[in-house]
Amino acid sequence: MNSQRRHVAVLGGTFDPFHNAHLRVAIELRERLGLDELRLMPSHTPPHRDRPGAQASQRLAMVRLAVADEPGLVVDDRELRRRGASYTVLSLEELRAELGPACSLSLVMGADAFAGLQSWHRWRELLTLAHLIVVDRPGFEPPVSGELHALWQGQVAPERLHEAVSGLLTVVAVPPLAISATQIRTLVGNGRSPRGLVPDAVWDYICRHRLYHGGNASPEEQIPHETLS
Ligand code: ATP
Repeated sequence: MNSQRRHVAVLGGTFDPFHNAHLRVAIELRERLGLDELRLMPSHTPPHRDRPGAQASQRLAMVRLAVADEPGLVVDDRELRRRGASYTVLSLEELRAELGPACSLSLVMGADAFAGLQSWHRWRELLTLAHLIVVDRPGFEPPVSGELHALWQGQVAPERLHEAVSGLLTVVAVPPLAISATQIRTLVGNGRSPRGLVPDAVWDYICRHRLYHGGNASPEEQIPHETLS
């Protein structure tokens, strides 16, 4: 056991918008796993979007507002800067190169995302680069067969992640919050308030920019470098 090893975790998502379950998961993990840093990493949204959504720069702005005062939570905008597909495996490769081989690196995902892991680009390689931290999510059950089931069966206790820099899977139960970004977009689209489900600064931003009020956002833009800093 090497408790001195630095441990950085990454929570990716479309964050359309960033909501209080994202925030709770991030804070719970930072505190319970003693993370040195938890990075929120917004990704591109699928091109076949058929619902009102925010642009990449707006989603990024909302994440930044939500975690501005939270120690240990930082925003990583690399996927929005990248041209072409923003595969998680590429981000982990970059992070591993930046953090070095001695740092524990973990990829965080909700149980729903874990259930779809086999559709991710080069998914098996994710575990050669990082640990997987799967967070319980109301309404989602563990896989019952196949490779994901086997992975799940091999889970270790969260405190054992320090024993290696990658390759382990742990499952963390956080106080369940049945909040989704879809639910928030729907509420706002129906003229209702999502207050209490999103940080106040995010709700403020949604109102100021009239996000999710109906109609489709313009296609996802590639963010120029200078608007990101
Ligand atoms: P949408 O409703 O648009 O699909 P979402 O609420 O699932 O969005 P994402 O940005 O897709 O939000 O989620 C990013 C990550 O956070 C994913 O790994 C997802 O599983 C996790 N997550 C989101 N909401 C919760 C929640 N209520 N409890 C646990 N994990 C969550």
